[in-house]
Amino acid sequence: VYVNGEWIDAGQPAVRVEDRGFQLGDGVYEVIRTYRGRPFALDRHLARLRRSAGAIELDMPLGEADLRDLVYEAMARCGAPGEMQVYIQLTRGPAPRTHAFPAASRPTLVVYACPLPPADPAQAEAGGAAILLPDERWLRCDIKSTCLLYNVLAKERAHRAGAVEAILVREGFGVTEGASTNVFGGRGGRVITAPRGRYILSGVTRDILLELAREAGIPVEERPWTAEELLACDEVFLTGTTTEVFPVVRIDDRPVGTGRPGPVVGRLRSLFLANVERYLDRG
Ligand code: PLP
Repeated sequence: VYVNGEWIDAGQPAVRVEDRGFQLGDGVYEVIRTYRGRPFALDRHLARLRRSAGAIELDMPLGEADLRDLVYEAMARCGAPGEMQVYIQLTRGPAPRTHAFPAASRPTLVVYACPLPPADPAQAEAGGAAILLPDERWLRCDIKSTCLLYNVLAKERAHRAGAVEAILVREGFGVTEGASTNVFGGRGGRVITAPRGRYILSGVTRDILLELAREAGIPVEERPWTAEELLACDEVFLTGTTTEVFPVVRIDDRPVGTGRPGPVVGRLRSLFLANVERYLDRG
């Protein structure tokens, strides 16, 4: 594990109790995955990390080239034979506990890689269930913040209901995203997803999928949409770094469309997997 300039064993204590990331959730993060042992869309993830850090007035302690090197070094040190995920976290660092920024603190930068268990292709073929929950998060979901409490509770509710994801619906806005994924609907060959902005995390997978869909001539609507529209879709699917492109076949107790993954998600999933190579390394 890389912690502020040093590599230490993963089991060793590394971060102080008074780290503001630990006590206050005062930090941001990224998760990057590999395909064929190479990081996927690395520059997009690092750009988003910089945006998230900027949004909470935190300076990145390292430049892009050094961060990229760290990611590759973390992967080499992990040395897993299969795919890996790389976790990067930047916090405002250790300081006596107060809410306002401390006069002096040194950010804590942590980077490590660990094995990514292979996804079961049969599961992605079959799809999974989702539940609907009110989106009760704060209003800056575009920041990839380590404050994930509502996302954690929502995902737990989904798992207890036998579902893979909680799809969140913001009062007065509509469907936003999943607890750890972006959400798409398909109807009449068109694809709908919530627009970028403060209500969603602009997923790297989301953005790449939209690019691929447009290239393939599949009409895409990035606009607010309601839970009623979602439930009327023939197809619903999720995107995310480790989720890839994953069909939702039930929402609460109702089947989505025929209750089986449909043609649009099948096509987009294949397009995504066929184009992974284009986005490897810096992307
Ligand atoms: N939305 C939320 C709330 C997430 O936490 C994530 C990823 O963790 C995503 C969407 C998907 O983003 P990405 O495709 O960049 O992994």
